[in-house]
Amino acid sequence: MKAIRGAITIDRDTPDDIKIAVKELLEQICTLNRITEENMIYIMFSNTADIHSYYPAKAAREAGFFNVPLFSSLEPEIEGALKKCIRVMVLTESELKTEHVYLRKAANLRKDLSSKLNIALDGPAGSGKSTVAKKIAEKFNILYLDTGAMYRACALKFIKLKIDIKNKSEVKKIINQISVNVKYIDGTQHTFLDGIDVSDEIRTNEISMAASTVSAHECVRSKMVELQRNIAKNMSCVLDGRDIGTNVLPDAPFKFYLTARPEIRAERRLKENLSKGLNDNFESVLADIIKRDEQDKNRPIAPLKVAQDAILVDTSDMSIDQVINFICNKIQEKI
Ligand code: C5P
Repeated sequence: MKAIRGAITIDRDTPDDIKIAVKELLEQICTLNRITEENMIYIMFSNTADIHSYYPAKAAREAGFFNVPLFSSLEPEIEGALKKCIRVMVLTESELKTEHVYLRKAANLRKDLSSKLNIALDGPAGSGKSTVAKKIAEKFNILYLDTGAMYRACALKFIKLKIDIKNKSEVKKIINQISVNVKYIDGTQHTFLDGIDVSDEIRTNEISMAASTVSAHECVRSKMVELQRNIAKNMSCVLDGRDIGTNVLPDAPFKFYLTARPEIRAERRLKENLSKGLNDNFESVLADIIKRDEQDKNRPIAPLKVAQDAILVDTSDMSIDQVINFICNKIQEKI
């Protein structure tokens, strides 16, 4: 049995603010600790006396915690204490290492937890980023955020709506109606578009190329980058993408740029596609990769490039294990 602790603050004492905060806090606790309601024995809330408008426990029920026993209590008013704060203790059967979660202004309550481990992994298609990122996340017991999947989900929406993805004003009209989200199920990222899990649907060559075109638009990038920063702010994770080290998290303590010769990358991508049962050939994969590199490197906003302080890793003649060991050693040297 383990007790997971957490806290979050709200700006306004309204039922909606409380519901959103409780949902965010519990979802983060579940994600980081790889648990669901079924692993919970009970949840206990307490809140500061300046919160009156809703019970956190009721908000938890409404957030989908239907069966676990819930309890709310009021904290005494203490001078100088953090304002409008909801605290939680989740008693769980999980035997995994406990990750306490302190969000928003409550992050200052636990300096020991506020140092997040964010690792930026950038590079072109087929450089091995996603394989390496997954392994590193596993090694350090943190999450893997595939930022390309978010641009892919946007591309899927535009294609479904038959929008001309090169047309800036058409894309701009639609982007605010799109909801892209990621959730972790058993520690694995699932990407949701308008509430539907599209994790598999976004893995086609057509979507790869469309994602590259769509991601060049400023309105798309600003929406996705905000989402990525919010995720990275709240949890330790490895982010793979094109602009993580240069733009999304310029202060990330660990930055790597993976690359490889185009032919090697095409071979890897072809192997991956064939293993998924997709009908493909080397020439077209190579042509796509070269075209995508060119688009990603030459777009005016957040182009693919090596961050000044990133470590460049040419994986052309390295095995995956060699790349992983190299990166893990570099991280370990610093922590
Ligand atoms: O990494 P993945 O192949 O899934 O990315 C698809 C496309 O999304 C890339 O070609 C790139 O144009 C775009 N992308 C981006 N910035 C990121 C991640 C992906 O522009 N951080």
